[in-house]
Amino acid sequence: MLDFHILGTRGTTAVCSSEYLKYGGSTTSFRVKTDEGFIIIDAGTGVSRVAKEIGELATPLPITMIFTHFHLDHLSGLPSFNPLYNKNAKISIMADPRRNDNWRESLTTLIGKPYWPIGIGEADATMEMKNIPVDDDSFSLYGIDIKWCNVPHPQQCLAFRLSDETKSIVIATDVEFDIDRVSHDFIEFCEGADHLIFDAQYTPDEYKQHIGWGHSTWEVATYIANKAHVGQLLLTHHAPERTDDEIDKIIEDARSLFKNTGAAVEGMKL
Ligand SMILES: [Zn+2]
Ligand SMILES: [Zn+2]
Repeated sequence: MLDFHILGTRGTTAVCSSEYLKYGGSTTSFRVKTDEGFIIIDAGTGVSRVAKEIGELATPLPITMIFTHFHLDHLSGLPSFNPLYNKNAKISIMADPRRNDNWRESLTTLIGKPYWPIGIGEADATMEMKNIPVDDDSFSLYGIDIKWCNVPHPQQCLAFRLSDETKSIVIATDVEFDIDRVSHDFIEFCEGADHLIFDAQYTPDEYKQHIGWGHSTWEVATYIANKAHVGQLLLTHHAPERTDDEIDKIIEDARSLFKNTGAAVEGMKL
């Protein structure tokens, strides 16, 4: 069974105030647990939730962290991710080898002096950095099938589709589509998914001022949800200033275009 939790839903930067309690203030991270291991997609500040869960296990399970891309809101929870400092932990980090940057070097630079007191290469855990096998169509990890799709976003980004015999979930956390130019490949990638978690950082009005910033709107999200016949749409990458009440209003508007729309909530289980 695809045991999936949403750990962080906020875009750009973490926020903390009583106005954000319902949907959460931690940045993007998702986790899957199977009998064989943990898969973590992105390590925004929400990743600390799964660190706690991993720390409470009697027998350690291997951990694979797969990155959509390396913007800080998807990475800022990694330096303080507790399993890095546990000598019994086994952690693999995976990313797209087609990236224009050298992602291993970028990570090693960021998680090390002077930005952080312990370099990622000095972590106590057994670490490896691996490429996503992009020449294949998909790969299987701990019993979960994983597919990927390039999506438009500054400095490159991937969307992932995770599935097993019980359900399929598309994670498209940072992606910019203009409603008139949604890629056919992406719609096909989402076709029939049980859950589509999609970037809706901007309202349609805000988007006009943020073309090229890498994020979409709830209108685009509902358009894709309809075209791809998904079961449920969950809006995510909530703008840092977006209050709970404003997200409630966005969901109401989005439901007029795609009925089974909700918003990603920190701690949500699918
Ligand atoms: Zn982001
Ligand atoms: Zn980004």
